[in-house]
Amino acid sequence: MTRFVTDYVVVGSGIAGLTTALSLGESGRVIVLTKSREQESNSYRAQGGIAAAIGKDDSPELHRQDTLRTGVELCNPQSVAVMVEMAPQTIQLLSGWGTPFDQEGTHFALGREGSHSVSRILHVRGDSTGAGITASLLKQVQAHDQIELMTHTMVADLIVHEGACRGVIALDYDHEPIAYFARKGVVLATGGCGQVYRYTTNDLVTTGDGFAMAYRAGVKLMDMEFVQFHPTALAIEQNPMFLVSEAVRGEGAYLVNDRGEAFMERYHSWKDLAPRDVVSRAIYTEMQAGRSVFLDARALGDRFEKRFPKICRHARNHGIDPETNLIPVTPAAHFIMGGIQTDLHGQTSLPRLFACGEVACTGVHGANRLASNSLLEGAVFAQRVAKKLSSLADQSLAEMPDFSISALCNDKQSQEKLKQSIRQIMWDYAGIVRTAEGLSKGLSLLENVAEQVEDGMFETKNMLMTAQIIMKAALMREESRGGHYRRDFPETRLEWSNKHLVI
Ligand SMILES: Cc1cc2nc3c(=O)[nH]c(=O)nc-3n(C[C@H](O)[C@H](O)[C@H](O)COP(=O)(O)OP(=O)(O)OC[C@H]3O[C@@H](n4cnc5c(N)ncnc54)[C@H](O)[C@@H]3O)c2cc1C
Repeated sequence: MTRFVTDYVVVGSGIAGLTTALSLGESGRVIVLTKSREQESNSYRAQGGIAAAIGKDDSPELHRQDTLRTGVELCNPQSVAVMVEMAPQTIQLLSGWGTPFDQEGTHFALGREGSHSVSRILHVRGDSTGAGITASLLKQVQAHDQIELMTHTMVADLIVHEGACRGVIALDYDHEPIAYFARKGVVLATGGCGQVYRYTTNDLVTTGDGFAMAYRAGVKLMDMEFVQFHPTALAIEQNPMFLVSEAVRGEGAYLVNDRGEAFMERYHSWKDLAPRDVVSRAIYTEMQAGRSVFLDARALGDRFEKRFPKICRHARNHGIDPETNLIPVTPAAHFIMGGIQTDLHGQTSLPRLFACGEVACTGVHGANRLASNSLLEGAVFAQRVAKKLSSLADQSLAEMPDFSISALCNDKQSQEKLKQSIRQIMWDYAGIVRTAEGLSKGLSLLENVAEQVEDGMFETKNMLMTAQIIMKAALMREESRGGHYRRDFPETRLEWSNKHLVI
């Protein structure tokens, strides 16, 4: 097997991976591995924005309170404090790297989203925030002489030797295995796992690889039962589903059912800007009663196109004009609050393995993520990972044994079929509303799928493993909290407060 030795290996080219690479860049050689094109990530897809307390009427303390309240007594208060305190300087950093945040006069323009008590969401070209940030980071990375970005390189497993992570094994563009060894350490920034659900807003690359690789290496995962379903994906079946950002409701649009009822007032006092889990369940309930659900943004008039040009263009391409038509919407899997357990510097339970971004669980989101906090989390903790990692002494890479992996399975059709089965099972039994009976059935159906998964089906195997972890955790948590709702245990139970399932 071909071998490369470098100082740092970073897996993933979303906001977390790119910010890590740039923050490390002067301290050694960085190789960034990414499994598809460099822009293929959830970061690139992010629309609404990135949160930071920079407004006149705002403070990190208010941002902290909103984050903790949304996380329903499961956030790690220390990580939340770190994130909100570092938010304003992180915006300056991103801006310095060329992110063209929208301005109002001489100040950054600030929007409002659900569960935020004030306007604190920065955005780029209205609803292209992720693309704006990622493009500027990629430009910096490509110009940096210490960073090498390898696209179409899928990391298949971690190299663990004598109790530490020494590198990764990846499959290159031609599916040839290559071992990348890291003198300082490896950073997983592989994002989430939305693709394990039939309906998702997540990019095709989000197959849970990071969770599965970590789990196989015995690394601890935490809070995996907490999945956020975004209330308003455009109700046109696509993979991924197109997101109609929450910022649209922030600007005054509201949900109606096919009887014309603005039904959110029946479900929560904050109506359309209630927490995402509440809005998703409300829509689910309406749909279970046989009603279709729409966003009514007509009152925004031509402001819609100006503020949300990308959403407007996409809707019009499907024959829906938001200025005159109701927009059909449906909930879809969007974000996972849990992940690889890390400390405040991204250190995982395995020496020399770090994680940041959606794949990590720093504890900032608790049971539910506050809108626009995940781009922020990725950028903040990436800087901390870089600082810690660069302070470590080189590890010995002498006398590494030979490592091998199975050959990639080329039977695309069988893999696609198995992936679709996993996605449907997860949607049916580990979705917006869960029960012990459904989760147990889901687990046994996943066992049937497992019997058909072969060694070289890397992505399918990772999806299956991640799906099983989510299901098991969801079955264990006998209460409802944030993104995890159990119909058989509908109450939030005191004995589960601040209690984490670590797998
Ligand atoms: C449609 C949409 C809109 C969103 N809007 C917002 C928003 O407005 N504000 C906000 O804060 N959050 C938003 N989010 C959530 C946010 O975008 C993500 O949580 C965040 O971008 C995750 O960043 P990341 O760097 O951790 O992962 P990603 O950006 O998902 O990047 C993961 C990277 O890892 C690579 N990768 C994965 N597996 C492997 C492997 N095995 N080998 C090599 N490479 C691999 C992928 O190719 C990709 O480059 C949105 C999400 C979606 C889907």
